[in-house]
Amino acid sequence: MAVPLLDLKAQHATIRDEVVAAAMAVIDAQAFILGDPVGELECDVAGLSNTRYAVGCANGTDALLLALRALGVGRDDEVVTTPFTFFATAGAVHNVGARPVFVDISPTTFNINAEAVGAALNSNTKAIIAVDLFGQMAPIEELSRVAGAVPIIEDAAQSIGARRRVDSGWVMAGEAATIGTFSFFPSKNLGGWGDGGMVVTQDEALFDAVAKLRTHGSRRTYYHEMVGYNSRLDALQAAVLNAKLPHLAGWSARRRENAAYYDAALAGVSEVITPVIDPRNESIFNQYTIRVPRRDELQAHLKAAGIGTSVYYPLPLHLQPCFAYLGYQEGQCPEAERAAQEVLSLPIYPELTRAQLEEVVSAVRDFFGR
Ligand SMILES: *Cc1c(COP(=O)(O)O)cnc(C)c1O
Repeated sequence: MAVPLLDLKAQHATIRDEVVAAAMAVIDAQAFILGDPVGELECDVAGLSNTRYAVGCANGTDALLLALRALGVGRDDEVVTTPFTFFATAGAVHNVGARPVFVDISPTTFNINAEAVGAALNSNTKAIIAVDLFGQMAPIEELSRVAGAVPIIEDAAQSIGARRRVDSGWVMAGEAATIGTFSFFPSKNLGGWGDGGMVVTQDEALFDAVAKLRTHGSRRTYYHEMVGYNSRLDALQAAVLNAKLPHLAGWSARRRENAAYYDAALAGVSEVITPVIDPRNESIFNQYTIRVPRRDELQAHLKAAGIGTSVYYPLPLHLQPCFAYLGYQEGQCPEAERAAQEVLSLPIYPELTRAQLEEVVSAVRDFFGR
């Protein structure tokens, strides 16, 4: 039995009629640019995130770009971020003309280390980008403490609907940062039929700025206050996402159940370190990422058994060829570098059957001779 890393067809089969009907309504109306579906999704994602404002945009990368621009980050500014994330996090910093400053991660959660962020701040720092990696939130309350007046962008592309318990109660992904960003790339927990993204904030001025930047810096057609982008969220994508959003909580709960199954079933395999979820976090498990010795051999073994896996991420961003100009050397973010050697993400999607979960576990046990 094959177990793919992700099976979008399995999910689509469960909701096909409602999603197709939502998409057909947009097609029949021939109203493809912004409009009601986009406004509805903005409203619902703001509700889910406990934020006052939301702006749909073309993808999660643009959400970061719009956030940075709205905060006025530009040439020669520094943005402190993690090297252990999808490339877009730092690519957006480069693309506004600023300089990514990479600091190391926590060896347990893989999320950015707040103390290291504090040590990297200086008078050139214009923002911090924390990433809620693999479905669990970065330590937003610790980051807020060290940040002082420096704004925090929370890249929650992998963590829509995740939450974290802080002194005042639960905070949702995107809620407590200056600006939160989401992606609706098909492989995220809430995925569209193509690209999509969103920016959330509590701040009216930042909301205004992002809304303008997404349509060429104009709110009033043909009058431009700043040079922005064409980065609208497609109405067709918004309609699909509106139909899928009511299922998100159930899907994320299923992912947590699958994670709990793996946690228990792999507990006896001493070579495997199962994901460490900070006890303050409720993860949505966009990925279930283990750490193992002989990672590449295990991946090949699983592949031969028909089991899909992936390495997120094999080369930390401070060592990427395109960032050689920043002058980082191997050894500067040792935890990120070690993680890159040891991590392997296993299938965790909600529609996995018990038999498929068992198959993954038995193939892992088999590799380690357990
Ligand atoms: C997916 C992702 C993005 C980019 O989202 P796109 O919609 O693909 O542009 C940014 N940051 C992180 C952490 C991501 O996982």
